[in-house]
Amino acid sequence: MKKILLITTGGTIASVPENGGLTPKSAGARLLDLVPELNGLCEIHVKELFCLDSSNIQPEHWITMAESVFRALSVFDGIVITHGTDTMAYSAGALSFMLQNLKKPVILTGSQLPMEAPDTDGKRNLRDAFLTACNSRLAGVYIVFDRLIIHGCHAVKTSSRDFRAFESLGRAPEGRIRDGRVVLDRSPAVPPAVSSAGAFTLNACLDPNVFLLKLCPGISPALLETLPSLGAKAVLIEAFGLGGIPGLDRSLLPAVRNLAARNIPVLITTQCLKGGADMSVYEVGIRAMEAGARCAGSITTEAAVTKLMWILGQTGDPDKIYSIFFRDFVGEFAKI
Ligand code: ASP
Repeated sequence: MKKILLITTGGTIASVPENGGLTPKSAGARLLDLVPELNGLCEIHVKELFCLDSSNIQPEHWITMAESVFRALSVFDGIVITHGTDTMAYSAGALSFMLQNLKKPVILTGSQLPMEAPDTDGKRNLRDAFLTACNSRLAGVYIVFDRLIIHGCHAVKTSSRDFRAFESLGRAPEGRIRDGRVVLDRSPAVPPAVSSAGAFTLNACLDPNVFLLKLCPGISPALLETLPSLGAKAVLIEAFGLGGIPGLDRSLLPAVRNLAARNIPVLITTQCLKGGADMSVYEVGIRAMEAGARCAGSITTEAAVTKLMWILGQTGDPDKIYSIFFRDFVGEFAKI
């Protein structure tokens, strides 16, 4: 029988209504009691790590999660992490980079309704997460939610209310749960990190000084100009369309030049959920590249932000930051 560790971190799945609104409460045994069919599926151990709404999850929590997973995987066959949905995709991205050459499944799940709510999606999601964690053909970090198995670096929360909270962007889901069974769409479903022969290691240094800026028409260049004084060590701009930034009125180009001159990498991604950025198509993108920005390509904002924090934990050299960023570690770049 497989041995799976359940790590609880909070989120709606663990929340109960209180005066101040839905609040996470101690969850491990309570969650398992509500899904009795898990008995007999695998041997389950519980570690209650945090009890947080995921809006309060910080990079330091990702490090603690990664350390717990790393230690546990010498003993367990797989991990299920219950987590709030709001920042689950960021946690999945951070874990994907910190846990290198994962040979076993690490599954994040949660729910849109609390576990004790009459129509909760939590019971099904928890059961599906355990089914997936027991599947020895899967290795890597995944989000299992509303029957989909989504690569941890391609999951994006696209609905704040629907049971289908996450979509897999830039890559088809790895598989789904159908009639209580895991059905994988790829064969074998092994991410690049596993096919490489590297040993499973933990690289859990993160530097959170990444600044994410979403553009809107009229945005003040002063915002970008103040970032060095706020301690930004890398900047990710969610630009328009294929990666355009304003270069006429309220031009951001001088601020981009200034950041580049200060050795602060500037990466440009898109606000569009699909298609990625390609700054070579329009003049507005080409001018930004001439000013010193680089195109992030086809990667979700969540994966790009967490990858940058992970890279900054290793180096401050802008050339190295760029070269590590553009290396594909776990299939995080979409194949367009
Ligand atoms: N606010 C909750 C959280 O992210 C939402 C959820 O879990 O669905 O912790």
